Amino acid sequence: MSIISNAKELAELIKKVGDIELYRRIVELEGEIIELTRNNRELEEQLQKIKKQSNAIEKLTRKNSFYFLDNDNDPYCPYCVEVEQLAVHLHKTTKISGGRRMWACPSCKTEFAYWSE
Ligand SMILES: [Zn+2]
Repeated sequence: MSIISNAKELAELIKKVGDIELYRRIVELEGEIIELTRNNRELEEQLQKIKKQSNAIEKLTRKNSFYFLDNDNDPYCPYCVEVEQLAVHLHKTTKISGGRRMWACPSCKTEFAYWSE
C-alpha cells in the first residue's frame, strides 16, 4: 500500500472518530504527502535525464575543439558539453564566416565557425 493510500485510510478512520481538529490536521498532512510524492517523482525524472546525458557525454570524443560521437559527423556544442554537461548537436546554418560554415547551438544559442559543409 502506498503512503498516499495509507494517509487517506487514516483520514477516513479519524473522520469516523469525529475529532474535527485531528481530521483537519490529517487532511493537511495528506496534502503534504501528495506534494512530497510529486516532488520525489520529478526529482527521479530529472535524475534519469541527467544519467542519460552523462552516459551520452561519456561517449563523445573531442577533436579540433568540438565533440563527436563515432560514426556521426555533426559536432556537439563544446560549451554545452563542458559547462552544462549536455550533449547537444550543433545545427548547420546558412551563414558563412571567413569561408567556414556557421553552426549554431539550439540550447545555448552560441554560433561556431566549422569547416564542414
Ligand atoms: Zn550549446
